[in-house]
Amino acid sequence: MRHILEKLYSKNSLTREELLYLLDKLEEDGRDYLYSLAYNTTLKTYGNRIFVRGLLEFTNYCKNNCKYCGLRRDNKKIERYRLSKEEILASLEEGNKLGYKTFVLQGGEDPYYTDEILIDIVKTIKSKYKDVAVTLSIGERSRGSYEKLYQAGVDRFLLRHETATKNLYHSLHEGMSLEKRMECLLNLKEIGYQVGAGFLVGLPGESKESLVDNLLFLKRLQPAMVGIGPLISHPDTPLRGFNNGSVETTLKMISLTRLLLPNALIPATTALNTLSKEGLERGILAGANVVMLNLSPVEIRRKYELYKNKEITDAHQIRKIEDRVKKVNFQVDMGRGDHIKYNRRVNNV
Ligand code: SAH
Ligand code: SF4
Repeated sequence: MRHILEKLYSKNSLTREELLYLLDKLEEDGRDYLYSLAYNTTLKTYGNRIFVRGLLEFTNYCKNNCKYCGLRRDNKKIERYRLSKEEILASLEEGNKLGYKTFVLQGGEDPYYTDEILIDIVKTIKSKYKDVAVTLSIGERSRGSYEKLYQAGVDRFLLRHETATKNLYHSLHEGMSLEKRMECLLNLKEIGYQVGAGFLVGLPGESKESLVDNLLFLKRLQPAMVGIGPLISHPDTPLRGFNNGSVETTLKMISLTRLLLPNALIPATTALNTLSKEGLERGILAGANVVMLNLSPVEIRRKYELYKNKEITDAHQIRKIEDRVKKVNFQVDMGRGDHIKYNRRVNNV
């Protein structure tokens, strides 16, 4: 098994059979070796720096019905909210004062935010803060919409593929399709965004094969960012009572992704931090190099309930993050943290 790991480390590529073999055989010592190869790979590409992003959860309305998600439209127990342009700008100003250089605007798929409304918000942000990267994470839209938002100044877009296994995807996403998801990701990439894909670990029906499908999909797509998090079962969704995803499997997937895509920006996700007290440190040791801290107004935070008991780290707590990452020989980088191979777009607004 060691020689397969070494091949992965030097070539950044493996066949389906080799990946399956690894997942079958990765016991404790092999696992630690995998983590250390992934950690060393991060050191070679981005160095010992963790990039911080300011996350603003601006709407919890969603027209979709993803089976795992607390924001799904059939969840009537959740109290819905939308932030106005003024509220969004006020939250980001707080982030700006703290020195954040990336703002991530995330929400459910909420048709209230038309292209026109979003373009106005994005243009205002980009003209107010010249050196800030704006990331959107607002789900599937038409190619035309993605183009207009890019023209308005959006730099990056997070759209996890969730699972690259067709049957699994369709069983979890009523009224949606994997083909459409992939088309959106390809459109975003072609338009010029730094694109984030990613998947959930521990979905009901997951298998070693489906985990490998995800890894091979990522290798083909070559996204700039990859978010991988454990499923956390939400009691007000059809997945109530299901087991949560495994922290260990999540860490292994982070490592394998780091080795397959050495230049990817990979967060130690909020879900990982929710299930593991040392999720951030363990994530870094397994190959992660991004963390998202919360800029949302305190009153609404609990309402953005993708899952329960979300471990929210407030954007003010950078010091605490600094102390934590020091333990794994990392330091906080407050820069924009663009993808290495990406030519930074000129701020044309
Ligand atoms: N609506 C947008 C962005 C918000 S959801 C979108 O779907 O892209 C952001 C991510 O939260 C999703 O991609 C999904 O992977 C994750 N998520 C949703 N419910 C979850 C749960 N119960 N446990 C863990 N992650 C979850
Ligand atoms: Fe909506 Fe995103 Fe949740 Fe799906 S995962 S229900 S698209 S917020």
